[in-house]
This record gives sequence, C-alpha cells and structure tokens, in this order.
Amino acid sequence: MSDKLYTIPVNEAFDVDCECPVCLMYKNLEEAAIEFTLGPSYMEDDVRMATNKLGFCKRHVKKLYGRQNRLGLALMEMSHFDRVNEELLKAAKKNIKPAGLFSKEKPEALTAFAEKLKNSCYICERVDETFDRYIATIFYLYNTDDAFVKKFKASKGFCLEHFCILYDRAKKEFSASAAESFRNELNNIYFENIRRVREDLQGFVDKFDYKNADKPWGNSRDALIRTILKMNSEEVE
Ligand SMILES: [Zn+2]
Ligand SMILES: [Zn+2]
Repeated sequence: MSDKLYTIPVNEAFDVDCECPVCLMYKNLEEAAIEFTLGPSYMEDDVRMATNKLGFCKRHVKKLYGRQNRLGLALMEMSHFDRVNEELLKAAKKNIKPAGLFSKEKPEALTAFAEKLKNSCYICERVDETFDRYIATIFYLYNTDDAFVKKFKASKGFCLEHFCILYDRAKKEFSASAAESFRNELNNIYFENIRRVREDLQGFVDKFDYKNADKPWGNSRDALIRTILKMNSEEVE
C-alpha cells in the first residue's frame, strides 16, 4: 500500500495549464481530505480518535469552517478542545509540583506544547501521506513514460518549494547519472519559466506608469497572482 503509484492524478495535474502542477496535486489532495473529514467519516471511531488527538492547523481549520458541516466541526473541536485543555491543566499544575508532562528544567515547556500543537493537523497528515507517493509517481513516470516526459518538459515549471523537493528527491529516486540529467532538465524548465514570470511581473509594474496607460497588458494582467504562486505556493484570488 505504501508503495502505491498514482499515475492518473499525476498525469491529470500535468495536463492542466498552470504555474505548478505539484501545487495542483496538493490542492486536490487537500480538497479530498477536507471533504472526507467533514463527510460521514467524521463519526467513525478511528477518524474521531485521530482528529481528537491531532486537531487542525490554522490554515485547515479556516478551510473547514468555510464549509457547510458546522455541527461536524463543532463536535470534532469539542473533543479536541477537552483533550488538549485537560493535558494543559495537568501540565500547568505539575509545573508547580515538578515532574510530569513537562520537565521543570524547561520553563518554556508550555510554549513548546503550544508550538507542537500549532503544527499538529489531521488534514496535513492525511494529505502528506499521499503527497509523498504523488512525488514518487512523478519520478516513476519520468523514468518509464515518454509521453509524461514530454508533458513534464512542456510544463510551465514549478513553484519554488516544489522545485526544491523535486531537485533533492532526484538523488533518492535515480542513479547518480540519471539524477544529474533529470536535474539539468528540471533546472532548464524551472529557471526558464521563472524568467518568463519575472518579465510578466515587470510588465505588470510598468502598467502603473502613466506613460504606459495605453500599452496592452499582454501576459501581465495576472502576473502578480502567478508570482505569488511561484514564490509562496499559494493561490490568491
Ligand atoms: Zn508548487
Ligand atoms: Zn493542516
């Protein structure tokens, strides 16, 4: 199961005209995880146990709140809320009478607890599990499927984060020489498209000069949105 390949969703993402197909894959997984969490499954014991323990990060609790199932979210929040505050109460008390959840040598222990909690998220965890296999599938397809290689080369590149993931991961997935040739290709695609977006961004900035008021937008109208996607892996509207 852990070695599963996802050739269909990976191919589909590379079929879409966008600034980063990997961002698109992530977004699709995120959407599926949100649907799953707020669907009938939130009443299932194993899901309840997991949401109860992990809770949700800032990004995902906002997304969950934006959906229709307020009762489902309220019930999940309620049990997570109780569990976390129970632990916190124990820990806070034990800090007065040392030992317990947090060591007395670490007066910042509650901050560490809060920090840990901030990064703990059922949706993130669910997405990450499959996302890693999606990345492995990209390498598998690149190695075995000429049609995919063609698509890969014709893509508009990647966001910064996903470029770095692909670059580093090549070492694990390929032999040294295959990794080198993959990286050369990846570098070409990434930096070529970075130059393109940079030019579009320049065009966007230039349009604010009154002298260019009549100049056509060309490809610059949405350049800021696409720049943010490249740099932050984030879609803004
Ligand atoms: Zn991306
Ligand atoms: Zn999250």
